Amino acid sequence: MQSDTDTAPKQYLQLADRPVLYHCIQNLAKCDEIDAILVVIHPDDKELYQEAIPKDCSKLLEPVFGGDTRQHSVLNGLVALQQFTPQQVHIHDAARPFVSERIVAELDKALETSDGALPALPIADTMKIADGMRVINTVPREGLWRAQTPQAFEFSRILSAHEAAHEKIDTIQFTDDASIAEWYGLTVSLVQGHENLRKLTTPDDLNWARGHLMRENMSSMPQGLFRTGSGFDVHAFEDGEHVVLCGVKIPHDKALKGHSDADVAMHALTDALYGSIADGDIGIHFPPSDAQWKGAASHIFLEHAVQRIKERKGVIQNVDITIMCERPKIGPHNVVMREQLSEIMDLPMDRISVKATTTEKLGFTGREEGIASLATATVWLPE
Ligand code: MG
Repeated sequence: MQSDTDTAPKQYLQLADRPVLYHCIQNLAKCDEIDAILVVIHPDDKELYQEAIPKDCSKLLEPVFGGDTRQHSVLNGLVALQQFTPQQVHIHDAARPFVSERIVAELDKALETSDGALPALPIADTMKIADGMRVINTVPREGLWRAQTPQAFEFSRILSAHEAAHEKIDTIQFTDDASIAEWYGLTVSLVQGHENLRKLTTPDDLNWARGHLMRENMSSMPQGLFRTGSGFDVHAFEDGEHVVLCGVKIPHDKALKGHSDADVAMHALTDALYGSIADGDIGIHFPPSDAQWKGAASHIFLEHAVQRIKERKGVIQNVDITIMCERPKIGPHNVVMREQLSEIMDLPMDRISVKATTTEKLGFTGREEGIASLATATVWLPE
């Protein structure tokens, strides 16, 4: 595989959350016919390359540096591959990330009867020759094809062709490897190309590629539904020295009264999770009449609700908790509360929200008779 060294490095632009080159390597690595992948890079792009590549691709070889032209870069890549004595080589533009297993397999098949093969698409538009913007002639489009990559070759023959072309580089230069093969007298065949092999050169191309990835991801996503659940809980104050909220012990001049540790926020959250899968509430799963839950730490309830969702192959998307009280102050404990919940639920912190509000001294929370809490949870469930 070669990367253009004479244009802007499109292969390092972001496509979804990965560089174009990353997608390209991953797609090539999926092909059984491909044993090793070598990328030709510009010497200035060493760091970009290291950041771009997949970290766990066993087929990826050390990169080599390219030359002044595309042709020279490919030659450097071929020379570097010589030590592995490959039978065949696919030469590919890194800015065409969506190479498929079908194309690679068809190219290999074509090499059974040909020295080289490339994917190509028949030209659908009428072709004009112009001098500036003045049309000089119309070219019949019959038999005209647009060349794509990867282009596949019998290795030793394309290496010889490239070496011979390199000798003449001052007089003749080529824009793809098939034309070097043709010039050298090798036989070259076409296989049916695909629009997905489009080279990403303009912002429009990149937009198309983003849409393509999105469609691919959506079609591979199992069918499912998003569900939302809500939970609400209240616990009254009694004498004591601390309260427990979202698993965090907070010093206070009162305690919350309850059968368990009275973690009102975690109870609301647990009920929201049960609610999202229509699976009852804490009282049903852990009856207050059952002595074994007396003084229990509420993470037992939360873990149970998370487990029930997992059993249904559900995925928690996010949770949002509001704690209502005049005192104690919740803000200073926000991060550690979310850390606790993150650990119990095995959910990233950026999907867990904990907020607090007073009720402007109104009602039972305003009179500091207790604490109330609300929670919502969004869960994806497969159908
Ligand atoms: Mg409760």
